[in-house]
Amino acid sequence: MANGKRIYSFGGGKAEGSRDMKEVLGGKGAGLAEMSNIGIPVPPGFTITTDVCTAFYAGRGKLPRDLVPGMRAALAKVEALTGKRFGDPENPLLVSVRSGARVSMPGMMDTVLNLGLNDRTVEGLARRSGNERFAWDSYRRFCAMFGDVVLGMKPEKKEDRDPFEVILERKKHAHGVKIDSDLPVDALRQLVSEFKAEVRSRKGVAFPDDPMDQLVAAVEAVFRSWENDRAIAYRELNGIPSGWGTAVSVQAMVFGNMGEDSGTGVAFTRNPATGDDTFYGEFLVNAQGEDVVAGTRTPQKIAELEARWPEIAKQLEGVRARLERHYREMQDIEFTIERRKLYVLQTRTGKRTGHAAVRIAVDMAEKRLISREEALLRVEPMALNQVLRPIFDAAKWQRAGKEGNGLARGLPAGPGAATGRVVFFASDAEEWKARGEKVILCRHETSPEDIRGMNAAEGFLTAFGGMTSHAALVARQMGKVAVVGCDALKFDYPARVMHVSTPRGDRTLKEGDWISMDGSTGEVVEGRVDTSPSEVHQVLIDKTRSASDAPVYREYAKLLSWADKARRLKVRANADQPDQAEAALAFGAQGIGLCRTEHMFFGEGKIGPMREMIVAETEADRRKALAKLLPFQRQDFAGIFRAMGSRPVTIRTIDPPLHEFLPQDEAGIEELARATGHTVEKVKARVHALHESNPMLGNRGCRLGISYPEITEMQARAILEAACGVAAEGIAVVPEVMIPLVGEKKELDHQAGLVRRVAEEVFAERGRKVKYAVGTMIEVPRGALTAGEIAETAEFFSFGTNDLTQTTFGLSRDDVGTVLYTYLENDIYDVDPFVTVDRKGVGQLMRMAVEAGRRTRPGMKLGICGEHGGDPSSVEFCHQIGLDYVSCSPYRLPIARLAAAQAALKEAAAAKASRRAPAAKRRPPARRAARRAAPRRARRR
Ligand code: ADP
Ligand code: MG
Ligand code: MG
Repeated sequence: MANGKRIYSFGGGKAEGSRDMKEVLGGKGAGLAEMSNIGIPVPPGFTITTDVCTAFYAGRGKLPRDLVPGMRAALAKVEALTGKRFGDPENPLLVSVRSGARVSMPGMMDTVLNLGLNDRTVEGLARRSGNERFAWDSYRRFCAMFGDVVLGMKPEKKEDRDPFEVILERKKHAHGVKIDSDLPVDALRQLVSEFKAEVRSRKGVAFPDDPMDQLVAAVEAVFRSWENDRAIAYRELNGIPSGWGTAVSVQAMVFGNMGEDSGTGVAFTRNPATGDDTFYGEFLVNAQGEDVVAGTRTPQKIAELEARWPEIAKQLEGVRARLERHYREMQDIEFTIERRKLYVLQTRTGKRTGHAAVRIAVDMAEKRLISREEALLRVEPMALNQVLRPIFDAAKWQRAGKEGNGLARGLPAGPGAATGRVVFFASDAEEWKARGEKVILCRHETSPEDIRGMNAAEGFLTAFGGMTSHAALVARQMGKVAVVGCDALKFDYPARVMHVSTPRGDRTLKEGDWISMDGSTGEVVEGRVDTSPSEVHQVLIDKTRSASDAPVYREYAKLLSWADKARRLKVRANADQPDQAEAALAFGAQGIGLCRTEHMFFGEGKIGPMREMIVAETEADRRKALAKLLPFQRQDFAGIFRAMGSRPVTIRTIDPPLHEFLPQDEAGIEELARATGHTVEKVKARVHALHESNPMLGNRGCRLGISYPEITEMQARAILEAACGVAAEGIAVVPEVMIPLVGEKKELDHQAGLVRRVAEEVFAERGRKVKYAVGTMIEVPRGALTAGEIAETAEFFSFGTNDLTQTTFGLSRDDVGTVLYTYLENDIYDVDPFVTVDRKGVGQLMRMAVEAGRRTRPGMKLGICGEHGGDPSSVEFCHQIGLDYVSCSPYRLPIARLAAAQAALKEAAAAKASRRAPAAKRRPPARRAARRAAPRRARRR
């Protein structure tokens, strides 16, 4: 921080920080400050900034020495507000020590509760509260948490259990009770000394008694937890820079474990799975902290709060309304009730499924809580993937149930359909996935350690925990299918089986068995069940459902109609068949940006003449074979033109090296010899001659068209004859012929000359002219570098960013796997450049080509047709450099439309901000600017 302030206090209806300070206070600290400021009941405390975390790591894992006096001073304020004193044996103040990075990383880092207890203060707590049970319950919880987080008492092997859990289980068994809160006080006392003994025997250290020592050690441990395995994995998956660090909030404890008039819970201000505007959550009576999410007892629904504590329910409803109005966004809150008094301990933007994201954004905009622009900015474009994801085919699903394959039913925590093989450990999920298997991770419950395995699985099935459990939370965030709290399951991890009690008797499932589950209903069945298209797909593509009967579709369509109004970039599709063109139109395509003609050479009646052409030895023979292909190509193009009507269609001339069209096996070669009347030796020789060491850098693209001009001629003829034919039907076709892999203007001159000559011939023969354009792909660096010259011939450019990335990096797309993995792992590349345009390198070439091209040919049409055209960050970049359109696969179009709208809205917002702020004031602190420039969505794919 510029002002060097390292500790920010909150409490008593005010705070030194605010919601805008997430970078310094972390999301949790900023939320606590903001809630204090707006009068929501929050226990007082203070937040140590993320800069201290940075200093902590710079200082080799020690707190800056001069921080402690500041902590004492901040503690004194908390003492004044609570009337208790830290370490006071009469009336002790207990605190929690909580982690919190600037973006929420749920459960990834550590928290210690009830800190400040020792053998003396526990007595004071018991006396003051008049509740000995509660005091010792808090103490045993503290010992376990401190032991785990600060002293490193973790399970050692994956089959192992938490050492304190084992002791606790034993104790419960000895006392014949099922739940923690039924243990008598004496048992709790024993637990404390047994926990401490366990620490001594395993770690060889004494449990610290001095509260201030405890506090310093806990703050250090929370800073350390920024670098634990699961936090690192989470950061990798979510593109969070490791330089951010975590803040630490130290906060006065409030106690949900004070008895039957206390409790704790978590809630969402709306349903996070569907987006319904209903309060949604769970609570537990006489419980503390993570008990709700840990799933050791099954929580009650928030709706039941009304019956138990009507006045608390009303207060909580008030908090819900207040927070939504204030943040104008769905919130995820944690609360505790201490002797019928409500405290809120956390608020943050609630994670939600793709369905819910769309629903909430549209609903809030319609209720005028937010503008349409904000609604558009709130939905991650990639979240639309979930809305487009398949669901189970209703008939097949029902049949599976009737045939007696039904297994169980749990809570529907992550919507969608998943089918896969059972695995029981997160590490196995990763391994199986790497082998190409589809797996469903089945566990009693999941925990943050499992995060990598969860990412590898199609979905999760758990026996324990509710809709706010870890598995449910992660599913919503990752967009995975999840069924949780399915209590019919019993796990035997060492044997790697799960027992399921079904209405028809017990079933045992082994590792590797297939199951299917519906994350929208919570049903699980044995075996594989086929899926069917999403609601959106059913309405738009299959036309098997009407919009009036498709609520998900309607909200999707509304959001995208707003996006279409907001965006400047046009969207086109990569499609090469009439049915794909139709799908593209349904998803909003305004044209075709890439029609790959090579796919048209395969299939019935086509591959034969194609091969004949390739093995032919003379031009005359080649032309004979090409003549056979012409009608097929013409028909294919006509189909696409008809489907697209008056929208532009960009057709690329032949691109891949010829060997890709030839058979490589003995039988195929013999057959080809028979069909063409050549000897087997001749054909073999030809196959051999076409072999290249680096085919992707060899005779392909326009080079082929130059080696064999008759191929381009045939293609040009097919395109223009089709265009004339369809124009005669009264359709205003707009063909654009695109020459691939041009790196030198004369290459394009050659090919464009050919196309134009053929066009004149066709127009003369047909007595009809159509407007057409000839342009090029910019996909090798030399093409980008000489774009100004190339634009003298090219009427348009389309960036082929797949090849341009490959050739700019000098990295073969087909062989890059292991290199990429290593590079991403080691932060050498922030993102996979084949997924997201590398703005610095490839992007610079694009920018140059845009400028040079338009200098030569003002107003020149520019687009992109690489895979990047459907990647949100790349779409944003294309907007920024002034392309006219992006082109991507049909299913990516919704994502591209939304991403294009967001790019336009962000640009408008930035322009407005810079008009408002005078130039001098606009400079953000240097450090913040650097952080902002950090990659936001680095991820491994
Ligand atoms: P996480 O980031 O993993 O959610 P938190 O810091 O939010 O960790 O703490 C976990 C839980 O501990 C909270 O949900 C809350 O129930 C409990 N908790 C934290 N601080 C306090 C406190 N001061 N008083 C009572 N409970 C607390
Ligand atoms: Mg929390
Ligand atoms: Mg290419």
